[in-house]
Amino acid sequence: MHNLTIAEQIKGLKNKDFSSQELTQHYLNRIHDSKLNAFISVTDDIALSQAKEADKKIASNESSILTGIPYAHKDIFCTQGVKTSAGSKMLDSFISPYDATVTKKLNHENMVMLGKTNMDEFAMGSSNENSYFGPVQNPWDVSKVPGGSSGGSAAAVAARISPFASGTDTGGSIRQPASLCGITGLKPTYGRISRYGMIAYASSLDQAGPMTRTAEDAAIVLNAMAGFDPNDSTSANKSVPDYTQGLTNNLDGLKIGLPTEYFSEGLDSGVEKVVMQSIKEYELMGAKIQEVSLPNSVHAIPAYYIVAPCECSSNLSRFDGVRYGYRCEDPKDLNDLYLRSRSEGFGEEVKRRIMIGTYALSAGYYDAYYLKAQKVRQLISEDFKKAFKKVDVIMGPVSPTAAFDLGSVKDPVSMYLADIYTLSVNLAGLPGMSIPAGFSNQLPVGLQIIGNHWSEELLLNVAHQFQIRTDWHNHSPADC
Ligand code: GLN
Repeated sequence: MHNLTIAEQIKGLKNKDFSSQELTQHYLNRIHDSKLNAFISVTDDIALSQAKEADKKIASNESSILTGIPYAHKDIFCTQGVKTSAGSKMLDSFISPYDATVTKKLNHENMVMLGKTNMDEFAMGSSNENSYFGPVQNPWDVSKVPGGSSGGSAAAVAARISPFASGTDTGGSIRQPASLCGITGLKPTYGRISRYGMIAYASSLDQAGPMTRTAEDAAIVLNAMAGFDPNDSTSANKSVPDYTQGLTNNLDGLKIGLPTEYFSEGLDSGVEKVVMQSIKEYELMGAKIQEVSLPNSVHAIPAYYIVAPCECSSNLSRFDGVRYGYRCEDPKDLNDLYLRSRSEGFGEEVKRRIMIGTYALSAGYYDAYYLKAQKVRQLISEDFKKAFKKVDVIMGPVSPTAAFDLGSVKDPVSMYLADIYTLSVNLAGLPGMSIPAGFSNQLPVGLQIIGNHWSEELLLNVAHQFQIRTDWHNHSPADC
């Protein structure tokens, strides 16, 4: 059953080949047998009772399309009555009193939550090594990282221990782990999916999205996740198309842009080869390839690593040891309570970013850093605007390398380089995808597809047509 896509599982449930309870138990068994550390919590009881409910709905014809399909939820989404840790010691004992909008929407479909997935603390990282709950192993090679911050979600889908997992992407955290684990990941346009109840890292960049094996599955799930939410002032009041409807158009005449800046120094030759081979595949489908330039993309890393820390320093100020979350033992006074709760509750990378953000936002430095970074952000957006006057989609690598060794990148700035091809998309609020495109040294490599605002339908079809012609998305790691 675990080799079936979501589209196939939907048919299986409908035809009564298996029940949701059987499907759910099967995945729970696989999760308990797995040693990847992809989950922070496994919610067996909730899953089995949701599956029972789903089976009832299916039997009485009250089901919707995703009813009874199991999924894994990134531990950044609030889930009522269930621990929601964001990968941090700070929230290790936090039981959310409410559901995030995404959680509510998936519950509304009667999907089945298998558990909460491991992640870099507060979504800060590119390797999942910043998790308080330990690193996740890449199912293709357990000595390698799965990518981050949605590393648990990516590993779970790749290892076939969940057919779908939710992710969030502030600077690449859906696309980069999807690439390193050989699955399909979509970061939608900023505002497409509600951020309500999604623990905030950098509010002007954070966006949730689906992580699945195929683009067709991503379209099915995006239908359920997307939509306006009055609880999130940045969610767009825009109707949601049926994303599965656009999956039939042929790509004859599609204009693809390759950014010069994405194929330069620093790109691993094995990754480049895979990306170029997939571009050839698109040419065979009738697409027209041309070079485009995104001259300001070279400034994406410095701009992002000012904007994101500034926003996180503000967002994370709520964790003060007073209201909820970790509190230090025997504080001497209020200052001691703040100081020790925060120094003991947060990990090293989170503290580094809070310090950078607080410094950059302080009076006297604001104009020199935050304001400057916002101006660069505008220039990056304008580069894309110009490029999208000429082309329909932009393609390139997701990550400069395939999965790297656990523990091998020690210096934070080298880790930030892993995001070089993904950050600009968030800074410009655009949708982007990673799809399995091949292998380099037996490790998966993703192709990035970037579209203009609100072009999810097009992106999903561009990905789907590739998946009709290739079978990279069907490869699975040994033992799966
Ligand atoms: N790796 C980037 C960071 O550490 C992006 C993380 C993300 O998208 N959540 O901030």
